Amino acid sequence: MSGTPADWTLGQPGLAYEACIACGRNWYFQRGFCPRCGSTSVEMRASGCQGTVHAITTVARAPSPEWQARAPYGIALIDLDEGVRVMTHAEPDMAIGDAVNIIFSPMGSGFFPVAQQRS
Ligand SMILES: [Zn+2]
Repeated sequence: MSGTPADWTLGQPGLAYEACIACGRNWYFQRGFCPRCGSTSVEMRASGCQGTVHAITTVARAPSPEWQARAPYGIALIDLDEGVRVMTHAEPDMAIGDAVNIIFSPMGSGFFPVAQQRS
């Protein structure tokens, strides 16, 4: 084990997912066992932060003044190349199937993930 990969939910510019060492299944939300084979031999890995848009919507009325200043913005479901689906902010003009990179935008003392079209 070489430490925990960076993850934006911990205030770091990165995205981590969990992987099963026994069967190779990857997933996003941390749990202590594999949802496919039940093995407890699992580990956190760093995503390469590349994927494709599975779904996207545009937020025009944000939930707080801080977010309203950024509206309109997209919220997307991204299928990462590692086979894991995550929710991120996104450029609002993207379409389903677009290839994206996920970058980490600073906010407060942390970061949030934003999908950007890959050229
Ligand atoms: Zn497994």
